[in-house]
Amino acid sequence: MIFCRCCGKEIHETAPTCPQCGGPQQTSTAPQTNDEPLWIPITSLVLGIICALTLLDDSPWDKDTKIGIGLLSGASFVLGAICLNKQKTGKGMAITGVVLSSIALFALIGLSFK
Ligand SMILES: [Zn+2]
Repeated sequence: MIFCRCCGKEIHETAPTCPQCGGPQQTSTAPQTNDEPLWIPITSLVLGIICALTLLDDSPWDKDTKIGIGLLSGASFVLGAICLNKQKTGKGMAITGVVLSSIALFALIGLSFK
């Protein structure tokens, strides 16, 4: 049993509408994830990984590399944050993207003030 999204009454989980109030239900068996774009967490994750891999590279960074990592990690962080705020899907990827990009940003800031 689930609870109606509109009136809170207990209804059957496969019921498309609430028999009490007629409110439309999203059944748990067919979650509507299509309107939640997966490219947001995926892009966040991929950009975060790219930043992290660049960090692992020991070669010295020139100015362009620093700017590139700054942009990539910034984009990764923002996309991950958007996903975490608005979506239910892809949260693991979004969290990883945010964490990796945060590490990259901190490393970048640390290097810039050396
Ligand atoms: Zn209802």
